[in-house]
Amino acid sequence: MTDIPFQLEAVRNRITAACRLSGRPPESVRLLAVSKTRTAAEVERAMAAGQLAFGENYVQEAVDKIRTLSHLPLEWHLIGPLQSNKTAEVAAHFAWVHSVDRLKIARRLSEQRPAGLPPLNICLQVNIDDEDSKSGCAPEDVEALARAVLSLPNVRLRGLMTIPRPGNTPAFAALSALRDRLLANIPALAASGFDTLSMGMSDDLEPAIAAGSTLVRVGTAIFGERATRKQETQAT
Ligand SMILES: *Cc1c(COP(=O)(O)O)cnc(C)c1O
Repeated sequence: MTDIPFQLEAVRNRITAACRLSGRPPESVRLLAVSKTRTAAEVERAMAAGQLAFGENYVQEAVDKIRTLSHLPLEWHLIGPLQSNKTAEVAAHFAWVHSVDRLKIARRLSEQRPAGLPPLNICLQVNIDDEDSKSGCAPEDVEALARAVLSLPNVRLRGLMTIPRPGNTPAFAALSALRDRLLANIPALAASGFDTLSMGMSDDLEPAIAAGSTLVRVGTAIFGERATRKQETQAT
């Protein structure tokens, strides 16, 4: 069985080392523990080691887990693709959504965010380098999407997210440059707290941090290898 507290500490040390190399304070990078396909008990073991923010990909699996663990002070982030028929559940159960790539989804999340909850934090997922992938907004369309999302009352636009092709580390600098361009072109973003660059995973968190990542999404390096891709897909 994976020693989750030990692995978690190792990942924190990698983040600290990468920050040091870039002259950044270690607190400038948040760690999101990606718990897709993991049990509620595994999440609790990570929590006992001080981890409170968890990322999930599959809405039904996530909502079951969130309900099971609702007595705990955990912060849940949706990082997987989101279809419009699932937005109500997501608006009700999550604090963050990293995978917003079109206005229709953002609008539904805003409309369906339950009264009494703070605005839902969202990142726009950008398809920075993969023409074959269907998820993510094209870089040239991000500015218009950001402007439209800013006008929605119950979501708060927090930043950009990307999943580059494996090994394509220049994509991280491209997302960082896109963030800078948006901040320069849209003054209202500053007031929205647009402070997040969600990029970097188990295999590439160091180059992501070197390029300015403020949040790394790490699954395997904390919890061990996941079941096969086929089983993962079936969990959707
Ligand atoms: C699964 C997943 C991760 C974590 O990947 P690891 O390689 O296990 O660290 C990060 N981001 C997204 C969007 C994912 O789907």
